Amino acid sequence: MRKGIVVTPSDFKDANWPEMMRRFSLNTLGLHSGGGARHDVIAALGSTMSETFISDLKSMQLDYEYELHVVDELLDRKLFSEHPDYFICREGARCEAGNWCVSNADAMKHIGDNVAELAVRLAPSTHRYFFWGEDAAASWCHCDACAALTPADQGLLCANRQAEAVRRVDPQGQTAFLAYLSTFAVPSEVKPGKGVFLEYAPIQRCYFHAIDDPRCSINRQCWQTLLGLLEIFPVETAHVLEYWLDVSRFSSWSKPVRLPPVTREIMRCDLAAYHGLGIRSITTFAVYMDGAFFSQYGDRLLLDYAELINDL
Ligand SMILES: [Zn+2]
Ligand SMILES: [Zn+2]
Repeated sequence: MRKGIVVTPSDFKDANWPEMMRRFSLNTLGLHSGGGARHDVIAALGSTMSETFISDLKSMQLDYEYELHVVDELLDRKLFSEHPDYFICREGARCEAGNWCVSNADAMKHIGDNVAELAVRLAPSTHRYFFWGEDAAASWCHCDACAALTPADQGLLCANRQAEAVRRVDPQGQTAFLAYLSTFAVPSEVKPGKGVFLEYAPIQRCYFHAIDDPRCSINRQCWQTLLGLLEIFPVETAHVLEYWLDVSRFSSWSKPVRLPPVTREIMRCDLAAYHGLGIRSITTFAVYMDGAFFSQYGDRLLLDYAELINDL
């Protein structure tokens, strides 16, 4: 069972995450460069890509992987002036914002080449690659060639191409299709290719009811989407990225921090629901859980999560 935590480099301030993970029997550390606006992902990862950091994780037998919104990294925005057709079309005009036109063969070749290069630099110990698009709802193409494809179809088409590129440099490599925001839907026109796994990130879900609670109209929809996704993606490789410990989400992505209102009982029910479907890879964001957070609120929430996931 993969039992994870996803944090950003700043969450290591006065918090020794590798040591805490080992103490709580969690085995997979996800490194995230941050959400929201586009940024230089490699610069933001900083020391979490360094040899010292990685060798410490290896010596502690902790797995590590990188979960990243790599938009500029996969398609350099400098190409826009010469090749606007590489970029998304929104309301009839090409624009630099968003991802790329998935129907443009040259753009997709750039994406593949950049994915291969990035895969070599990151070299996650899990051989799982998370190359996400822009962290915004309206980020996919609506040109004549793409218009029939939903954001989820476009995201999956991209993941399929990324998986081919990843395997050129890591034959064991697996690539995530991220179900999140506009791609939080079952693709209808595209099927998962070889080496593509489901990553389910229900950011809009309700945390006052369990994920499979039929009395919650919000989670009912989220759960149905998960069941639909598992009809086309293998459950054996499916991965859940939760927000139980995501202090940043529950603090509206700004400090001062608020304690997530997630109870032990909700986490217990959620974990049982995911596990009951056969999902064996579960992680949670814990962004803003740094030393200052632990001094203010203690580690009860983290301990609850660790105890419950280890009880499965
Ligand atoms: Zn297009
Ligand atoms: Zn609810």
